Amino acid sequence: MTDAEELRRRTREFLAAHPPATTDRLDFLRARFDAGLAWVHYPQGLGGLGAPRSLQGVVDAELAAAQAPDNDPRRNGIGLGMAAPTILAYGTEEQKRRFLKPLWTGEEVWCQLFSEPGAGSDLAALGTRAVREGDQWVVNGQKVWTSGAHNARWAILIARTDPAVPKHAGITYFACDMTDPGVDVRPLRQITGEAEFNEVFLTDVRIPDTDRLGEVGDGWRVAQTTLNNERVAIGGMALPREGGMIGKVAQTWRERPELRTHDLHQRLLKLWVEAEVSRLTAERLRQQLVAGQPGPEGAGMKLAFARLNQEISGLEVELRGEEGLLYDDWTLRRPELVDFTGRDAGYRYLRAKGNSIEGGTSEVLLNIVAERVLGLPAEPRTDKDVAWKDLAR
Ligand SMILES: Cc1cc2nc3c(=O)[nH]c(=O)nc-3n(C[C@H](O)[C@H](O)[C@H](O)COP(=O)(O)OP(=O)(O)OC[C@H]3O[C@@H](n4cnc5c(N)ncnc54)[C@H](O)[C@@H]3O)c2cc1C
Repeated sequence: MTDAEELRRRTREFLAAHPPATTDRLDFLRARFDAGLAWVHYPQGLGGLGAPRSLQGVVDAELAAAQAPDNDPRRNGIGLGMAAPTILAYGTEEQKRRFLKPLWTGEEVWCQLFSEPGAGSDLAALGTRAVREGDQWVVNGQKVWTSGAHNARWAILIARTDPAVPKHAGITYFACDMTDPGVDVRPLRQITGEAEFNEVFLTDVRIPDTDRLGEVGDGWRVAQTTLNNERVAIGGMALPREGGMIGKVAQTWRERPELRTHDLHQRLLKLWVEAEVSRLTAERLRQQLVAGQPGPEGAGMKLAFARLNQEISGLEVELRGEEGLLYDDWTLRRPELVDFTGRDAGYRYLRAKGNSIEGGTSEVLLNIVAERVLGLPAEPRTDKDVAWKDLAR
């Protein structure tokens, strides 16, 4: 079923059977998942219809016109953008059935337990240990910069299961229950003053082997699916023309003629064009995506996203002058969601600083584009045949 007309008809039938005005929000979302109208490119029975991803817009437009509730996607960006495609690609049938529906409806929020104090760009060096005991794994270690861990019910986790082999080979990927008594989430304040992310201490956390994703020792490969999806999720968001940060500054430009200067006008025009090119490139990339399987090209999108957000938010602060430096009560907030474009100009300027770090730093993404998209020679890696336990730390 790949036809836009057919999809429109199905959506209308669904709306007639579940009128948004009189249907409970969660009942509506669960029924939408069951009808295959959640993410149409996912398989039948898992919230989709196996249709091309580009047809999602047909469903979304019908639902929006009917003022149907959505699944509040910004609250569960890591779940929707990263955990779900990884579960789809590597999960067992049972795991897919257990995790995907409450993830999509937003009943279960996910976070990402990857980075550690000693393993960020060099993620494969991670030291969190998972040791098998019967049909369970016992996990000990520390993770850091874990966005949204304070709201999460589940985490995607990578841990070392074999220290005696080279670093990339001894890693296994799990779904970690954040309600386990051994999980300790502590807020970390960031440059904006709020605590969007956390440090997470894992002490004798027990994970059933049935919550392992992929084979033992194959976690690095599974994690590549997550990371490639992460770059698309951060850098390749669907936006209307003049959506995102460029829309904010263009709006100020139109509404506040007294702030305009010739120099800022030139910069605004240049950034507007670059933002539009980037938006259209992201659109093309999304249309090429098969569910769960973006390649390294997403790194280029994420690079452009970070650079543009920083330049555009900088321009906006300059345009607004003293006003651009004002800030409200960010330090009092503990937001439920990551918000790149919300609030005021000063917030956007500060939050954009993290865009070139989260999801892989711009330096590391340049390496990925060089090696895996352009086929240039790889960086020298002296540790790739050394057992992880013998690496200098
Ligand atoms: C807002 C935000 C949210 C985040 N959320 C999460 C999350 O939810 N879960 C999670 O697991 N992590 C999260 N992170 C962590 C993020 O993935 C890491 O910060 C990032 O990968 C960089 O790692 P690091 O901080 O250890 O820096 P390092 O790896 O120590 O890098 C330090 C500097 O060295 C440079 N560098 C390192 N290696 C190379 C190289 N080979 N070539 C050139 N330059 C290099 C880097 O570019 C950087 O400038 C988040 C980070 C931020 C800022």
